[in-house]
Amino acid sequence: MQLSPAYKTIFNKALEKSSLKPTKQREHIFSLILDKKDHPTADEIFTRSRDTMPTISLATVYNCLETLVESGLIRQVNFERESTRYCPNLKPHAHFLCKNTGNIYDVDLPDSIFSALKKNLPENFQTEQIDINFNGSIKKN
Ligand SMILES: [Zn+2]
Repeated sequence: MQLSPAYKTIFNKALEKSSLKPTKQREHIFSLILDKKDHPTADEIFTRSRDTMPTISLATVYNCLETLVESGLIRQVNFERESTRYCPNLKPHAHFLCKNTGNIYDVDLPDSIFSALKKNLPENFQTEQIDINFNGSIKKN
């Protein structure tokens, strides 16, 4: 899979900033995560990646994911007792885990919530990321 020109620029810039090389595999994994924003696990990404890149190994997929997280292109999503998932939405947001389906949804939150949360910290505490997770179920209408 290939990235759109706009994402290709974002991808190259982010890796360059972290002094990392924009390899074919890294681009492939990033485009897969962008393609279907369903918060896949590493195993799911591995399965999907083999459709178009049959020679890729699970170890390579893990390495790519680590690189993409390190360069800030994706973030890890962790719920208790669940495998790590990956999310390409870099706007501050929360996640909602539906306990019936296991699906994870992005929940947009206003910046004011995040800054209000940070105000509770001692002055010398530097926040890099805030993870807000909702657990529950989705009622059918
Ligand atoms: Zn997300």
